[in-house]
Amino acid sequence: MAPNATTFESTNPATGEIVGTFPIQGKEEVDAAVALAQRAFENWHQLGFRGRHIVLRDFASILTREIDLAANLIHNETGKPFSDAKLEVALAIEHIGWSSKNASRVLGKQNRPSGLFMFNMASQVQHVPFGVVGVIGPWNYPIFTPIGSIAYALASGNTVVFKPSEYTPAIAKFIEELWNRIAPFSGIFQVVTGTGDTGVALTQSRVGKISFTGSTRTAKKVAAACAENMTPVILECGGKDAVLVDQDANIKKAAELTLWHAMSNAGQSCIGAERVYVHRAVSEKFKEEIVQLARELKPGFAGDAKYGPATMPSQLKVIQRHLDDAAKRGGKFLLGDTNSIKGGYVEPVIIEDVPEDSSAVTEETFGPILIINTVNNMDEAVDLANATGYGLGASVWSKKNGKRIAALLECGMVSINSAFSFAAVGSLPFGGVKDSGYGRIHGAEGLLEFTYPRTVIRPKFRIPLEFTSFQRSKFADQILVRLVRILHKRRIRKK
Ligand code: NDP
Repeated sequence: MAPNATTFESTNPATGEIVGTFPIQGKEEVDAAVALAQRAFENWHQLGFRGRHIVLRDFASILTREIDLAANLIHNETGKPFSDAKLEVALAIEHIGWSSKNASRVLGKQNRPSGLFMFNMASQVQHVPFGVVGVIGPWNYPIFTPIGSIAYALASGNTVVFKPSEYTPAIAKFIEELWNRIAPFSGIFQVVTGTGDTGVALTQSRVGKISFTGSTRTAKKVAAACAENMTPVILECGGKDAVLVDQDANIKKAAELTLWHAMSNAGQSCIGAERVYVHRAVSEKFKEEIVQLARELKPGFAGDAKYGPATMPSQLKVIQRHLDDAAKRGGKFLLGDTNSIKGGYVEPVIIEDVPEDSSAVTEETFGPILIINTVNNMDEAVDLANATGYGLGASVWSKKNGKRIAALLECGMVSINSAFSFAAVGSLPFGGVKDSGYGRIHGAEGLLEFTYPRTVIRPKFRIPLEFTSFQRSKFADQILVRLVRILHKRRIRKK
């Protein structure tokens, strides 16, 4: 991109064809979009849960009608198979439906007990939208991931300004166009396009909250920029998800679903499996099964290709570095080798016995590369799974011990005897811990993220005891102490 360019192109990573040309929008345009969103906010908020539900229901419906067009744009911009793109749109629609249907239940006013001290008061919590939410999205799931913020923020009563990745602006603009066809007025949902600087402008604008998905490196910059204005932020970053396979697991199923978990979308999933820790008793069988299935996977753009090219070409350097490091450090290639990157495509690679301090094990690879290391027991598997800076998702395969093992993992989401499934469940929160970020999208927690709690209290009737006044009497003091004694004084347990 030329330094003073005013537009940029989105290209198909498989064919090099131009998908579309889009403006590079700077601070002025971003601030104007945020200002329009601020003006739209009051009317959108005033529509109430029911009014917004009707609009969001129309949005889900129009996207359902245009699912093929949307999927085709995703297919072209990311290179992923058309059927995967369609699955992605379908899941996004499901989240629009869930968020709008459940917003009033989750975010409606809640009366709370006032306790003995304040028994004459009526206590209430209201969930108040922030105003304008800025959403910064990634390219790997260019509609599913941002919709996890956009739909939930809109259903909560906020307006939204969305900055998509520079690799996937076309699908974002298409979504905006669909929205505009059903929106009751302008400014509720807008898309600003451009490069990282457009994202910077959004973080520095007068948004009430930012929801970011992308790398941990950029997330830290976003958090630092937001700190300047005390703008709260949700960070959905990368991961190094582990799969733990116990000796009593259904090995055939574990191999089949772990392969999808690791290699679908060319391994470009924040919740993709990158490491497997398999019990020694079943390790050979698991490896045999998964390698046999993986041999049949063919990357490509059309026909029966199971996954596409690397969407972001610079990622190929990271993948190559990890392959080289694994090879240098004694990892044994069960499938593929250090030459598995062919043009923009990466053929499936499975490596066993890779030292735990290799970059292939410690860093996010974001490619169809799977490390399989053997462990002597599941405690060792848990320790190794947790020994990473990331903490996004994990998967456990065991007939008897799944829940016990899952409870020991330091991460935001765990599947037992399945893979990826939590992402498709509207009611379940999505997000991580440690370097994988903080805050949640999806589910009731995802709706709550886009509001702040406002406490409201008022007297239901007056009593002669006024505790919060300079007129407080000695009698009131005595009552207070007596109440505390009744409520909290008890015999202290001996140590
Ligand atoms: P980034 O984290 O750099 O980008 C994510 C989004 O943030 C994009 O929209 C990007 O815009 C925008 N952005 C970039 N810089 C800033 C900034 N300073 N302030 C605000 N917004 C900014 O991810 P990349 O696309 O460069 O991918 C790098 C790596 O991140 C991947 O290889 C992968 O490891 C990880 N990743 C993880 C994802 C996940 O789902 N957790 C998703 C995508 C990537 P622009 O694209 O225009 O630069």
